[in-house]
Amino acid sequence: MFDWLFLNDNALSPAEHARWRVSALRIILISGLVLEAAVALHVALDAIAIAAYHIVVVVVAFYLVLAIGVFHTAKRPNLAAAILLFAVYAAGTTILFLVNVDELAKLGIIFIYTTPIIARLFFGGRLAVALMAFNFLPFFYLLQNGPFVHYLPLNMTLPGSHTYLQSLVFLFFNVCVPLAVFRVLHAFDKSALRHHQTSAALEVSNAQYREFFENAGGAILLCSREGLILQANRMALSLLDAEHDQLVGRSLASCLRGRGDRLPEQVDTERLEEFTGWHWQTDDERQILVEYVTRTAQNSFIVVLRDASGVYMIKEALKRSHEREAFLMYHDALTCLPNRAKLRAHLMETLPLQEAGKVTPLVALRLGSIRHANEKFGNGIGDLLIQYFADEMRRLLPPGSYCARLRSITFLAILPSYESPTEAIRQIERFRLAFPQEFEISGNDVHVQFSTGIALARQGEVSPEELIRRCEVALESARRSKEDSPTLFSEADAALIRRSVDIELGIVSALRNHEFRLVYQPKVDANRQLVGMEALIRWQSPTMGSISPAEFIPIAERAGLIHDLTSFVIEEVCIFIRRLIDQGQDCPPVALNLSAIDIVRHDLIDLIDALTARYAIPPAMLEFEITETGLIGSEVLAISHLQALKTRGFSIAIDDFGTGYSSLSKLSSFPIHKIKIDRSFVMRIGENDKSELIIKAIVSLANLLSCVSIAEGVENEVQERFLKSIGCELFQGYYYHKPLEVQQIEQLLQ
Ligand code: C2E
Ligand code: CA
Repeated sequence: MFDWLFLNDNALSPAEHARWRVSALRIILISGLVLEAAVALHVALDAIAIAAYHIVVVVVAFYLVLAIGVFHTAKRPNLAAAILLFAVYAAGTTILFLVNVDELAKLGIIFIYTTPIIARLFFGGRLAVALMAFNFLPFFYLLQNGPFVHYLPLNMTLPGSHTYLQSLVFLFFNVCVPLAVFRVLHAFDKSALRHHQTSAALEVSNAQYREFFENAGGAILLCSREGLILQANRMALSLLDAEHDQLVGRSLASCLRGRGDRLPEQVDTERLEEFTGWHWQTDDERQILVEYVTRTAQNSFIVVLRDASGVYMIKEALKRSHEREAFLMYHDALTCLPNRAKLRAHLMETLPLQEAGKVTPLVALRLGSIRHANEKFGNGIGDLLIQYFADEMRRLLPPGSYCARLRSITFLAILPSYESPTEAIRQIERFRLAFPQEFEISGNDVHVQFSTGIALARQGEVSPEELIRRCEVALESARRSKEDSPTLFSEADAALIRRSVDIELGIVSALRNHEFRLVYQPKVDANRQLVGMEALIRWQSPTMGSISPAEFIPIAERAGLIHDLTSFVIEEVCIFIRRLIDQGQDCPPVALNLSAIDIVRHDLIDLIDALTARYAIPPAMLEFEITETGLIGSEVLAISHLQALKTRGFSIAIDDFGTGYSSLSKLSSFPIHKIKIDRSFVMRIGENDKSELIIKAIVSLANLLSCVSIAEGVENEVQERFLKSIGCELFQGYYYHKPLEVQQIEQLLQ
């Protein structure tokens, strides 16, 4: 029943609005039917008792009308409401005209006064007002206060009419209509409550939304479907550097356009999604990104902006590092010159375009003075020297030249093509001579010395790789020649270089396979008494035959293998001396040669200490020969090493004296005991006065420095006689002894 009366509605949607009307209608009709039932039944019984059957018909008719009204409430509530109104008017009229007691007839008109409220409930205000106006007619009629017109043929007055009518009016006004109004007011109360609750919830959700909007951790704009900015949170205002009022109401497109130059002009203001990914740089160099644009269910847009400076910085750095990586694949980091790979690619490209009959010179340069610069001024200046050298090369080369850094200190330039080789060489000479002899680097005068190798390219002759190789071969022979002029590539040089590569590789395996041995050349005094000997290394290679130390020692020095060779020599000499001592033989001091690289070797003293200790060698039995040139360069370290050797009691000889450039002052600072006059001077005794003069000067110098003088390479009596005549003290050479094998020297000593 409750459901049927729709008393349980909880919300006031339009559908529910219709429901309370039906509910109210049914309440009036049903309560009317139920409450009036008793009255009507009594009326009917009274009427039958006095045979007034028309009254029964009218009462039944009213019941039927009301029942029909109830029936229609479900599907046609308006019809039901109209039936209710009709029933009220019909009842009023019936009472007015068919009850012939004036006082009771008036109740019919009072009955009618309920119609405006019924009309308002079910048909709205207009009909209600119309009926209010219409009801003036019965009101005025009532104002006359009778006598009222009665239609007597259908008189409905019964003995209990007074009770029936009063009951009807009472029930209708006191029960039916109030119940319906209560129902309506109940619905309105609920609606009001619901409205109150909804708006409270809305307020909460709105506050939450604002909270979220402001603190979502991003700069957010809310835009209408037309692309107008509706709201902007604090972060968005700060990112866009604008006040809230300046932004709200503006179109997003016009607001962003002009900030960056990459905003597509044709972006449709209503398709804001297209802004996604767009970014711009602010005046203070921040990168702002439109991170994403989302269309909401209401077709508005949420635009999220982000300060992506960090990400862009990383991206930029990454991009730059990729570019640098790509650059360094084909360029040298120090000079930014193309590297070997790039040079080869360039030659591949340009060689086929070479004009027939012309020559293109390739010039390889090797910056030899770098070692000196590194040692004297440090590696930083060395690096700068390479940079200055590269810059100067680029500056001095003829226009149209291509310049590359082949490897560490070797550069290669490709000059433009020339009509003849002579012309090409002339151009190279011009370039070479224009090169400064010194650079001023960080306040230091840094000497510039470089070797030059040249290869000439003619159309269709050889591959780029072969051209580069030829250039390197020419450079290598220029370096060996020690003359300062450029060397043109030749096949003989190439063979020489190939051999030096073979030797370099051979040394490594020779050390492993014990292919090296020592021979000993005696040194004698003026009476030809053996006073010492010099250990000299020998290499008998199974593949290359006997190789002279004069050939493989410089190669070992260049290849960084001299350390191993020297270690081998020192140990062999120690073993040799130990054996002689153990055999109880007289053993004169044994000299061994240290190369220029050995003398600056950091572990030199430790090595000598360790070996002499291991074999218990008295220091007086070991002598070290150091070439004069070996002392130039890193003098400080060399002197400290020599000093350490002297302190330990070893003696030191300057080898090949006269070929270097040691000044007297420098020489006096070296802790030396012997000066060995170079063989090249001894060789020319009796032929060249100048050599004899030099030898005399060296012997006096030795006297001056309290050093022993010794001549090497003495081959005949003439040389001996001259040397003795000028006071040379010791002698070494084929004239006395050739270098002897260990057994031979042992026999000699016995
Ligand atoms: P060096 O130190 O000047 O050695 C003397 C060289 O002259 C030796 O050549 C020796 O055999 C040669 N010689 C000696 N007397 C005469 C002579 O009367 N006439 C001629 N024409 N030559 C004579 P070798 O053994 O071929 O050594 C050549 C160079 O190789 C040496 O010159 C030395 O600088 C270097 N060397 C030899 N052994 C070693 C070594 O163990 N270590 C180092 N670092 N260098 C060594
Ligand atoms: Ca020597």
